[in-house]
Amino acid sequence: MKIKNPATGEIIAELDEDRTEEVRAKLQSLRQGQRAWAQISVRKRLACIERFGELVRQNSDELAAILTAETGKPIQQSHNEIIGAQNRIDHLKANAEKWLADETLVDTGATHERISYEPLGVIANISAWNFPYNVGYNVFLYALVAGNAVMYKPSEYAALTGKQFEKYLHLAGIPENVFQCVVGDGKLGQTLLEENFDGYWFTGSYLTGRHIATTIAHKLVPLQLELGGKDPLYVTDDVTDVKQAAINAAEGAFYNNGQSCCAVERIYVSEKIYDEFVAAFTAEVKSYTIGNPLKTDTFIGPMTRKQQVNVLDGQVKDALKNGALLKNGGKAIEGKGNFYEPTVLINCSHAMKVMRDESFGPIIGIQKVASDQEAIALMQDTEYGLTASVFSSNEERALQILREMDTGTVYWNCCDRVSPNVPWSGRKNSGLGTTLSSQGIRAFVQPKSYHLRFS
Ligand code: NDP
Repeated sequence: MKIKNPATGEIIAELDEDRTEEVRAKLQSLRQGQRAWAQISVRKRLACIERFGELVRQNSDELAAILTAETGKPIQQSHNEIIGAQNRIDHLKANAEKWLADETLVDTGATHERISYEPLGVIANISAWNFPYNVGYNVFLYALVAGNAVMYKPSEYAALTGKQFEKYLHLAGIPENVFQCVVGDGKLGQTLLEENFDGYWFTGSYLTGRHIATTIAHKLVPLQLELGGKDPLYVTDDVTDVKQAAINAAEGAFYNNGQSCCAVERIYVSEKIYDEFVAAFTAEVKSYTIGNPLKTDTFIGPMTRKQQVNVLDGQVKDALKNGALLKNGGKAIEGKGNFYEPTVLINCSHAMKVMRDESFGPIIGIQKVASDQEAIALMQDTEYGLTASVFSSNEERALQILREMDTGTVYWNCCDRVSPNVPWSGRKNSGLGTTLSSQGIRAFVQPKSYHLRFS
């Protein structure tokens, strides 16, 4: 498999793809390894994960360079991701023993009742390229600590990073027959669906997620899907600092080139502050440094996937045809690499694709609203349900709006944020199941109920 640098179009590496025979052999060895791994205490398993974290920290410069080379993520953002994702390890350290421990519910009388939490077995983790550390750690670190073995299939656009995970997990003491990274494209993902894993954790698009759900339904094993979003942000008329709200909203829309599952994908602004907000937002976007992702001051690098450029072009053309106005950008940047101008469309409406379909790139639509009721109706007018955000100086007003949102996560005066302390879950077409938090730990075990009669 050829690995291309999306900033230059150059081939930077070639990897041997795993075929069905290799997947089967690796799965068989993972089955054996998992049985021994499950016998080790949670504390010892955690110690390996902590060592992995230390190794990643020590090698973060090299790892950031690899991530930037294969995905085009600006180097500062690669560093931020690698260091930021360590909070998953801190979370496991603080909580895993508590949530994986046996529980005694009744220990008096003739019949005692207890629960033990047993690992699922061998997990297939089919992952995405946009934040491989964050979304990878949410699954494979939590699965390993809970006593499972993992076959990790990174996206073909983040395969070098996947191989680094494997290298450092093994160096940290995770046995080779407990974690394996397999390399290949969507066809390899399909192979994993055809084999018998004890659970499937997927991060990626709605269409692939739906395909996975239908393909493996007959296996009756746990399935979790972390899918896309069309996340709204609403700026009310009472924000104290319109400029700051615009800066924060722009960062939520354009960080990682808009290629975040919880990126701000559409913005609604009260008509009372609309012009001021649009001016501040556009000025902020115009100030972004675009170009070589290896430079530390670059904020907008290339898109990871070339084909997404056509999706963005289609959304821009459709919006302009339906009455939107272009305030910045609007087209691909000519030359080497998959660069697209950061694009701001205003006077948008839900007749436009840019307000309905996931963009997953550096483009944003802004729409004027007359009331909170109108904003709520528009925010809710979506097939997705990942996150929703309100910027307002009034907490109660914001909470009232956020309670109406059919999303797994809501934000007040912030956006595009994930924390290991609270559950990460999507509703509707944004997914199924939960990662992170105590629930994300328990997701990787199955309860066994004990009824123990003493008389
Ligand atoms: P895809 O659905 O295209 O790919 C995701 C993974 O599935 C990749 O490893 C891919 O392999 C693999 N795959 C492709 N076809 C199949 C198949 N038939 N069977 C099994 N596996 C297959 O998603 P993207 O790469 O485009 O990722 C971006 C999407 O992920 C966005 O929609 C984004 O919102 C979402 N996402 C959601 C997150 C969340 O937490 N909710 C977090 C991050 C991203 P390959 O790439 O090698 O073709």
